[in-house]
Amino acid sequence: MKDLDVMVIGTGSGLEVSTEAAARGLSVAIVEHGPFGGTCLNRGCIPSKMLIHCANVMETIQHAGQFGIKARAEAVDWQFIIRRASDQIDEEARALEEGNRGHPNITVFKGTGRFVAERTLEVNGERIGAKTVVIAAGSRPSIPPIPGLDRVPYLTSDQALRLPEQPQRLAILGGGYISAELAHFFGALGTQVTIINRGPLLLRREDEQLARRFTEVYQRKFNVYLNSRVSRAYREGEGVGLEISTNGDTQTIVADAFLVATGRIPNTDLLEVANTGVKTDGRGFIQADEYLETNARGIWALGDIVGRYLLKHSANLEAAYVAHNMFNPDNKVAVDYHAMPHAVFASPQVASVGVAEQTARERSIPYVAGIYDYRDTAYGSSIEDRDGFVKVLAHPETKEILGCHIIGSEASMLIQEVVNAMRMRLTTDAITQSIYVHPALPEVVQRAFGALRS
Ligand SMILES: Cc1cc2nc3c(=O)[nH]c(=O)nc-3n(C[C@H](O)[C@H](O)[C@H](O)COP(=O)(O)OP(=O)(O)OC[C@H]3O[C@@H](n4cnc5c(N)ncnc54)[C@H](O)[C@@H]3O)c2cc1C
Repeated sequence: MKDLDVMVIGTGSGLEVSTEAAARGLSVAIVEHGPFGGTCLNRGCIPSKMLIHCANVMETIQHAGQFGIKARAEAVDWQFIIRRASDQIDEEARALEEGNRGHPNITVFKGTGRFVAERTLEVNGERIGAKTVVIAAGSRPSIPPIPGLDRVPYLTSDQALRLPEQPQRLAILGGGYISAELAHFFGALGTQVTIINRGPLLLRREDEQLARRFTEVYQRKFNVYLNSRVSRAYREGEGVGLEISTNGDTQTIVADAFLVATGRIPNTDLLEVANTGVKTDGRGFIQADEYLETNARGIWALGDIVGRYLLKHSANLEAAYVAHNMFNPDNKVAVDYHAMPHAVFASPQVASVGVAEQTARERSIPYVAGIYDYRDTAYGSSIEDRDGFVKVLAHPETKEILGCHIIGSEASMLIQEVVNAMRMRLTTDAITQSIYVHPALPEVVQRAFGALRS
């Protein structure tokens, strides 16, 4: 049995901790069964955004007519689009692995780990023990129980970002951000997209007004089934047939590819964390305290596997706290999740921070709301953004910024100034009293803040 100071399982945000431990001169084991870099680099944020940029370029060409420019895309070189993303990613993953293998304090164990005893992991038949363990093993796509699904060639986001051929017809089950982003990617490049969503709104976790607008726009662009479920999947030639039940009615569609995007589950089961005494919640996510220490002595957890926010910037934030708390046991700091933002890189883009209006209502949080349409600003009108708006919620007396929700062009960038103000606990004055470049797009954020009233 190999005995080391620190063992880190998972090379997504876990690498931040292993790097810190190795820099301190400790002996470190890194356990990984996939490519280095984890979900974000290999099958998540990075490839999806590289592909989505291609879709955005296509949309710019398609919409050029609005600006008096006649343009037409001659062809889509699908293989080039996929290769551009994959080659770059694979190279980065390789470099990351090589860099870690070359470090004198790091031993890389390539294989699937599972706990066999307290702070003892088995990988490829070998046992590794460590005084301190960091579980950063992430999550994977969840697969709902659909009759017939096991007999059809369905995809998850793991495969959808590397398809060798562009499907002509793609059916997507689910209405969350992965569905929204991939519908945009495939749809803008010419695939006929059908979305099947259980509830009445896409992006149901967003502010309701924003989710409603997003759903309307997607209904204009794609074939969207709401309040629906797939009651049966079957093989249809080279593709997939789907029976869709909507309020008691059943319709059948056929697609060349079927993407299941119905959420993610933690990898705690594969890791058999119970064998090391780590407690999980009802959904399998690791229970950790405010310092990200688990109930088991010397075991920490971070990222998707603790299930607080399944986002890369959250996993990175948590990794920084774990690295601090592990090495400063007398000066531990609770993770500050205040103002955790997120963005959906669909078309339109969506970005959000803080509470949604329905949440403020449910929790009886006093608030005033301000809303402003992109098209009523100089820049919003010049780029013909007819659907975009910014909505702000603030406390009526203290002027605390409670939340901001943006749908429209560059939403992922516009949200940042509000995130910064919220993280610094500034009031709405930070936005209303500032000076904005005229006529730049951020004016729409300031105008929404200026419109705050009960
Ligand atoms: C399609 C898609 C798009 C996304 N886009 C965004 C985005 O735009 N912005 C954003 O913030 N987030 C995005 N995310 C989410 C983001 O990728 C994750 O929140 C983040 O990568 C989680 O990091 P992590 O370190 O917790 O886990 P991971 O990065 O998943 O790392 C876990 C690692 O552990 C390894 N592992 C698991 N089990 C074992 C085992 N038993 N033995 C050995 N190794 C194991 C895995 O191979 C993996 O490499 C996206 C996700 C997907 C799927």
